[in-house]
Amino acid sequence: MFKTISNFFKSINEDKINDENQKMLQILDSESLTCTSCNNIAYPVWSSKNKYRCTECDRRFSNINHNLIERALNEFDINNMNYSKEKEKKLKLICERSIKSELI
Ligand SMILES: [Zn+2]
Repeated sequence: MFKTISNFFKSINEDKINDENQKMLQILDSESLTCTSCNNIAYPVWSSKNKYRCTECDRRFSNINHNLIERALNEFDINNMNYSKEKEKKLKLICERSIKSELI
């Protein structure tokens, strides 16, 4: 009985986390540009306003301003500080390491 209930909540929680991860990837993708050297995806650099880093050749370049942090904080409930700090940390990590597979 308890096991069933805890599994039930666990699966809801996992679904929620997957949804959030998907959202983060969508934000990352929509704020990304194409690398002019190799045509692969270049993610915005978290701590910058307008810098990008290619996920393939690691080239860094400046371009138009991105809204990565603002969009992430809006998406993930800025009123709940613990919650959004956690998300911010995670998104920053993904962004810095450019590890998409970690989420899927
Ligand atoms: Zn590149």
